[in-house]
Amino acid sequence: VLDARGLYRSFGSTTALNGIDLQIALGQSLAIMGPSGSGKSTLLHALAGIELPDAGSIMLNLPGRAPVDIQGLKDKARTKLRREYFGFVFQSGLLIPELTAEENVAMALMINGVPRNAAIASAGSALAELGLTGMEQRRIGQLSGGQQQRVAIARAQVTGAMVVFADEPTGALDSTTGFEVLDTLLRCTVGAGKSLVMVTHDPNVAARCDRIVQLQDGQLTSDSLHPSNAAKDGAQQ
Ligand code: ATP
Ligand code: MG
Repeated sequence: VLDARGLYRSFGSTTALNGIDLQIALGQSLAIMGPSGSGKSTLLHALAGIELPDAGSIMLNLPGRAPVDIQGLKDKARTKLRREYFGFVFQSGLLIPELTAEENVAMALMINGVPRNAAIASAGSALAELGLTGMEQRRIGQLSGGQQQRVAIARAQVTGAMVVFADEPTGALDSTTGFEVLDTLLRCTVGAGKSLVMVTHDPNVAARCDRIVQLQDGQLTSDSLHPSNAAKDGAQQ
């Protein structure tokens, strides 16, 4: 679904991405690992069209649609594409604290032009699916960390996004809650035929993905299919 070639990105004298080639299949879950500063977040932001690399190309290939060159789009078109086809679950949540859980989820639809009432109704069902019935009217600060992450997952998938990007989605959670959030995230993405691209420091979290890549100094140093998931992955290539 994503085909990235020759990605470079530098910040002053720091080379954050140093020639990355990465193809991600639809329905695949990919964990990006590596030491702090190795370029994981920079890579995620590049793949998601949030911050473009200095060089390289990223193609988005969706079934039944002509391939789109994400780099080649004007800012406005790229933002539109991101809102339609990509979902985001970041550690900081990106949730708006002044809004309720329901409004945060509905917002993802409203920016795509869905009228408020319809958006609120869809948000309610998305929250219910994630076990958040009764929490719809709470503000973000009135939810636990795990509940906030589930609101973020609801928002990432309510639009019908085909690729969900997550940067340390379980990083701020205790391990039990982290695994609950991870299960939810996998169910809502790979379980529904979407792709999941996730940065994580935790090998136990990464091991739940179909595939793990390692970054070191802006380069991919290893790329492995998870043995128990490899058959499934192969079937979807
Ligand atoms: P962590 O595990 O700590 O989150 P990371 O692998 O996500 O690390 P990146 O955030 O991708 O690392 O950063 C890669 C390199 O690029 C680092 O050396 C970082 O200092 C540098 N860098 C990232 N963003 C910027 C920026 N906006 N300005 C300057 N340097 C940056
Ligand atoms: Mg990072």
